[in-house]
Amino acid sequence: MRVVVIGAGLSGLVAARSLANQHDVIVLDKGRSVGGRLATRRIGDARLDHGAQFFTVRGVNLQAQVDDWLERGVARVWCHGFAGRQDGFPRFCGTEGINSLAKDLARDIDCRSSQMVFSVRQTEDGWNVVIDDGSTIGADAIVLTCPVPQSWALLAQAELAIPEELFRRAYHRTICLLTVLDRPSAVPEPGGVQFDPGEESNPFAFIADNQAKRVSKVPAVTFLATQPWSTEHWNDSIAQLRHLLLERGRPWLGNATVIGAQIKKWRFAGPVEPWPEPCWVDAEHQVVLAGDLFAGPKFEGAFNSGLAAAAAVHDFS
Ligand SMILES: Cc1cc2nc3c(=O)[nH]c(=O)nc-3n(C[C@H](O)[C@H](O)[C@H](O)COP(=O)(O)OP(=O)(O)OC[C@H]3O[C@@H](n4cnc5c(N)ncnc54)[C@H](O)[C@@H]3O)c2cc1C
Repeated sequence: MRVVVIGAGLSGLVAARSLANQHDVIVLDKGRSVGGRLATRRIGDARLDHGAQFFTVRGVNLQAQVDDWLERGVARVWCHGFAGRQDGFPRFCGTEGINSLAKDLARDIDCRSSQMVFSVRQTEDGWNVVIDDGSTIGADAIVLTCPVPQSWALLAQAELAIPEELFRRAYHRTICLLTVLDRPSAVPEPGGVQFDPGEESNPFAFIADNQAKRVSKVPAVTFLATQPWSTEHWNDSIAQLRHLLLERGRPWLGNATVIGAQIKKWRFAGPVEPWPEPCWVDAEHQVVLAGDLFAGPKFEGAFNSGLAAAAAVHDFS
């Protein structure tokens, strides 16, 4: 079968890898590179994770992948808990940033970046995937792994019985400040601080020192704002956001001078309420929706949803 996977985030790449030995698989992503929310940005000599910061492992499927990554030096253990709260569970990171895990999953796969899918249309014997350059790719089966509201928009012209509660699922927003410093920060060992939700006066959910994490050779700190703060300030100007977050983040920077600061806004940072199934499948029309909405949020949820999507497609053939 020709299978087109839309979205080269974690779930799409995992699905594509599982399918590629038996099917003709093409992965399309609108981004300049693969990874989606597994995002690492370079600013000068600094390298900063600005989507997912780390991940944990509960199930055997992800454990097998992590064992392989550890053996090949693609991932490593960052720590076993954050400032003042060591709980013994490993937090893993990408050796060269979280995006390097996506790049590793994409190796030897036909992944096409800068390919924004405009719509997917049903044909007599499958699907036409329409890309923003006007070209069309025919497919027997499609796997959509964008955040579900985006997948829904692509499917607007298709006649599918997608439950309304599914495409109406909400996602929270995250505003992120990336800073490059002239000397090491004051973020305590192991270079990460995780805050309890509900501390209303605190705008931060997580602070990560990318140098202490050994992702960046030079001092660079990522600040992730809380969901309420991000929602409240979503329409502020970039200059305002940079000013407000820098002011509040100052105590974590010690004596360092900020030599670079950028803002990143994630409209679909994570699902508010997960969907109870690991993916949504229409076997008659050979379409699957997958992503971190489905198999539990976060890294492992996206990973497991990608596997579930591949299993569903294998069953089509
Ligand atoms: C700021 C932030 C911090 C996080 N921190 C953590 C953490 O510390 N630990 C953890 O476990 N998880 C964390 N997460 C969550 C984790 O990153 C996600 O759960 C996971 O990466 C989602 O993968 P996905 O494949 O479901 O979606 P995505 O990574 O969003 O992939 C979807 C892809 O679809 C593409 N796409 C969308 N529309 C189109 C279109 N029309 N045409 C072509 N391509 C399209 C997008 O470009 C994207 O690459 C964090 C997320 C964010 C945003």
